Amino acid sequence: MRGNAEKIFKEMFDNPPPKPGLPDETRIPHIPPSRIPCTEEALQSHLKKYAQILMDEGADEARIVPIETIPQDPRVILKCSHPKCPSYGRSGSCPPHITGDFQKAKEFLNAYAWAIAYRVDIPREGLKYFTGPTQIEEIRNKKYTHAVGSMSRYVYGKGDLVERAAFYDGHYFAVNCHFGPCLYEYCEDFKDCQEMKVGICRFPFKAKPSVEQFFSIDFLKLAANLNWDYYMLGPCALPADFPPEYQPYFIGLVLVE
Ligand code: SF4
Repeated sequence: MRGNAEKIFKEMFDNPPPKPGLPDETRIPHIPPSRIPCTEEALQSHLKKYAQILMDEGADEARIVPIETIPQDPRVILKCSHPKCPSYGRSGSCPPHITGDFQKAKEFLNAYAWAIAYRVDIPREGLKYFTGPTQIEEIRNKKYTHAVGSMSRYVYGKGDLVERAAFYDGHYFAVNCHFGPCLYEYCEDFKDCQEMKVGICRFPFKAKPSVEQFFSIDFLKLAANLNWDYYMLGPCALPADFPPEYQPYFIGLVLVE
């Protein structure tokens, strides 16, 4: 982890959810557009720029990876429902509202050529939200949804900046993959998903379909391919079980071009 650990912990686990409605135009950044199509040389320069954006935003590592090295597995689609994720059926971007199809997931992913994989290290103190019996205690607590929503905004917000930059560079199909329920990430201030109730999302420009259902990517295998060691998190694994030199992390992935 780079920088002031206390400050990062606060930004990662305690940041405010967005408000519905159009953004304030005075806060929209100026991004000059590029000519389409771009050259291969320009594309390579863009990919390096995106990795640098992620590092400048506080990612701990960012790698440019060819799409054919990203592993997919049909069983990823099942993991949302068997056993059921506590968020199963609670937001418009998750199953059963959206269900995946492995053949389509392969077609979608293979339509891209490049991706930027990035990792964001988790401060040890933040592990209580994701591993050990304290995780159950935390889930009962409203602070848990705020912490998990904050973490999603913190990690995937960095990839959203790359998606936006890539769009104006002419890579208009660029997509930043988001995990987990957008109910926590965006609708934390509300009790339920508006899209499931009345068919209209509160955050149409932000909410993403579940990456598990749409791209069926095996992220742990991807981490292994990148030589990023990973240990399973869960209620039975104590933070003390991890080797002292092990640095837990979250993975982000932006598909480009
Ligand atoms: S209304 Fe909220 S929970 Fe529902 S799909 Fe939109 S962002 Fe997700």
